[in-house]
Amino acid sequence: MSAVGKEKRKEPQKPESLSQVAAVVTDRIRVPWLWGGARKVDLSVIPPLILLPVLLHLAALHFLLGIVALIALPGLVLWYYYFTHRKKGKTLFFLSMALFSLAYMYFLFITEVLPRGDVGLAQLSVLTVGLFLTLAALFHAKRAPGVVLPNQEEVHSTVTYYSPLAERDHAINGGRQDMTMTAPNRGAGSWEESGEEPKESSQRNWCPACRAARPPRAGHCRICGICVLRLDHHCVWINNCVGQANHCSFLLTLVLFLLTSLYGISLVLQSVCPTQPLLTSLLYCPGVYSQHSTALCFTCAWYCSVVTAGLLHLLAAQVINVSHNVTEREARQALRDKTARRAYWGLVVDTGAYSLGFLGNWAEFMTMGDKLSPDSPARKDLV
Ligand SMILES: [Zn+2]
Ligand SMILES: [Zn+2]
Repeated sequence: MSAVGKEKRKEPQKPESLSQVAAVVTDRIRVPWLWGGARKVDLSVIPPLILLPVLLHLAALHFLLGIVALIALPGLVLWYYYFTHRKKGKTLFFLSMALFSLAYMYFLFITEVLPRGDVGLAQLSVLTVGLFLTLAALFHAKRAPGVVLPNQEEVHSTVTYYSPLAERDHAINGGRQDMTMTAPNRGAGSWEESGEEPKESSQRNWCPACRAARPPRAGHCRICGICVLRLDHHCVWINNCVGQANHCSFLLTLVLFLLTSLYGISLVLQSVCPTQPLLTSLLYCPGVYSQHSTALCFTCAWYCSVVTAGLLHLLAAQVINVSHNVTEREARQALRDKTARRAYWGLVVDTGAYSLGFLGNWAEFMTMGDKLSPDSPARKDLV
């Protein structure tokens, strides 16, 4: 384990060779699986299991160490995020961090806060139900996000005309060959009938990697290697794309987590800092570092607060986007192309392209997942 840890720490210096070493180690470490056979263990699952308890216990020793640890932890996570994002690699680090944080916070609540006797059975039950509802919504959000399936007919009719993989990118950017072969299968509005050159928008609607014609608002995720209907973004925390099929569950996960987390934080602070008003106890709680147990609970309340603040910002951005019927991907694209109304430091990005009014946008958002049943013709129709 320590050897692996060393490799992980050195990784930034020699990312290529060490990634290969990690791949070999990952390939060799297998655990017996309940349903027979053995499964590979992704090493990126392990660091959060060590990092979180070590940093939280360290932070509980002194409030200055607490400040350092609570800055270092998000810093490390952000650094790792940009490191993996640059490589467009899939990693279980963030999902492991999210699930282990939930489990570890609940474990500490049971072992450190509950014995203090300030939390009743009803409060514990509410917290437990909140945790399980969050997990249920999270696993629901981990379903397929709504994958754009290549039309088999199109694939068969066009596959022989493709240039080799290495040249394909060039063919998309420069050539029109792929477009010519597939456009007739894409139904009404074909540019070929009029003999015109394909427009920029047509080019964007064809994914060479998936060999699929994308409906409007679909996008290709380079991390998952799939095209997703109404792609919002790739979420590292659920290790999945957020698209038409799971966007609603994703938002529900956020809401349930935030409610549970805020309730948990308030219970912990009321227990370890009973003399202070709830709103100020996070900033001023005299004597909390006199015992390691109370200091640990206080540190965990701070850790949850940092995570909660980050996710509140994400929820606000998501709610604003849904209210304007804009996806995160469209918002970024519109900001790049300067084609959107922008307000509040980029928190509000309104393209106006798909908006049906506030209620209409939310009604479409709540029902868009249902339009994806295999029998529904709306699979490709939803805009
Ligand atoms: Zn694609
Ligand atoms: Zn993805």
